[in-house]
Formats: sequence, C-alpha cells, structure tokens
Amino acid sequence: MDEIIREGNAYACIQCGRCTGSCPSGRECGFRTRMIIHMAKLGRDVFKMDELWDCTTCFTCQERCPKEVKITDIIIELRNLAVKNSYYPSMADVPKIIIQNLYKTGSGQPLSPEVQKMRSIIGLEKTPCDVGRDEDDLRAFQKLLDGLPLMRWGDI
Ligand code: SF4
Ligand code: SF4
Repeated sequence: MDEIIREGNAYACIQCGRCTGSCPSGRECGFRTRMIIHMAKLGRDVFKMDELWDCTTCFTCQERCPKEVKITDIIIELRNLAVKNSYYPSMADVPKIIIQNLYKTGSGQPLSPEVQKMRSIIGLEKTPCDVGRDEDDLRAFQKLLDGLPLMRWGDI
C-alpha cells in the first residue's frame, strides 16, 4: 500500500479538495476523492472500500490536481490490490453500457466529441492518458479481455 501512495505522489496532497470538486462521480454518489487519498495516506485499508469502484477513471482529478498527485493511477492500483484480495463488485452489478464502453474505447465513460474538441482548443490531448488514446494499446487491451473467461466481450 505504501508503495502505491509514494509512487502516486499522494504525500504531496495538500487536501485542497479540487479533486473532489471536479469529480463527476462524486456529484452523483458518496464517493469523495480527497477522502480516499487522505485515508490512504493514513494507512487505512481503502482498497476494501466499495466507493473505490464508483470512479469512472475519467482522469479529471489527476489532470487538475495542483500537486501532481496521480490520483486516478492510485485508484487503479488500489483496485488492483482489491482484486488481489478478493474485494471487487460482481460483474452483474456493473451496468452493461460501462462494459461496452470499456471494451470499445478503453474507458468506462468515454468523453463526448464535444468535450474532446474543447480539450483540443485549450491544448489538452483529446482524451486523458487511458488505454484508448493509442489504437495499438486499445487492440492489445481488447485481446487481453477476449482471453478472459468471464464473457464474450465483443458480443455484449
Ligand atoms: S486535488 Fe490534489 S492536492 Fe488537492 S486534495 Fe486532491 S489530491 Fe490533494
Ligand atoms: S478519475 Fe475517478 S476520482 Fe477522478 S474525477 Fe474521474 S471519476 Fe472522479
């Protein structure tokens, strides 16, 4: 856990709250990004928290953090740790649209063309640093999912 926090630069967090204020999931549920980072720094077992799975990995918080805390990367690493310890939601609880988006674009909630255009205007990459930014990476990701026995990803 400490390695995840250190590598994600979480010790630089000043608890400004910009991440929580920017989070689209936080507007719809009880998910609080700043709290996750704070509790992780305190050494709490945040990987066991159900809220961890409310993140859409949109990377907004990470792009906006004034201290360059790799927030989304930390959340992804915490999820990896959760899965290793058998804390993860049932696939049946994940909305089908999220799974379809993930397979097709590499993101559970891809940005709309309008938002991508606005990002380009202000000098940002069209999409955040997720796997969907690169066609080869996306194909490799889909191949990985196709190898999982969970379901026929391409058919959903
Ligand atoms: S935006 Fe960055 S510095 Fe501010 S609370 Fe979130 S992680 Fe901490
Ligand atoms: S990456 Fe997750 S925590 Fe960060 S703003 Fe997006 S939904 Fe919220």
